Amino acid sequence: MERYASCHCGKLVLRCAGEPVKVSLCHCFDCQKRTGSLFSVAAFYPRESVALMAGEAKMFHRPSASGFDVSFHFCPDCGSSLWWEPERLPHLIGVAAGAFADPDFPMPQQAVWSEQRHKWLALPLASHARNPVKT
Ligand SMILES: [Zn+2]
Ligand SMILES: [Zn+2]
Repeated sequence: MERYASCHCGKLVLRCAGEPVKVSLCHCFDCQKRTGSLFSVAAFYPRESVALMAGEAKMFHRPSASGFDVSFHFCPDCGSSLWWEPERLPHLIGVAAGAFADPDFPMPQQAVWSEQRHKWLALPLASHARNPVKT
């Protein structure tokens, strides 16, 4: 199984092999700011399963609410963040689930930072007030 994720303009393309080891939805304010939406969905893959097939990304590095830094890789032309490297999970790469543009993509197993969730949002997921999980 191979899936391709790409940015809004299509210049950045990632190939992801196999199934994601975890899919996680995050309600935190950083994810809200980054996406402009109300939550983000990350598909976590082992590092060796992800390859950049086209384009050159820029990087934005920041601390996270969990206490570990994260480096985001985004398209310098259209601004989409396509993947990120969480120091909390150094063996994994997070890929923006929406970038696969695939309604059949596996659904998240969990939602984290629900204490920052917009109150009207109800999701059929196990929910954590913060992020308790170390994968
Ligand atoms: Zn782009
Ligand atoms: Zn978040």
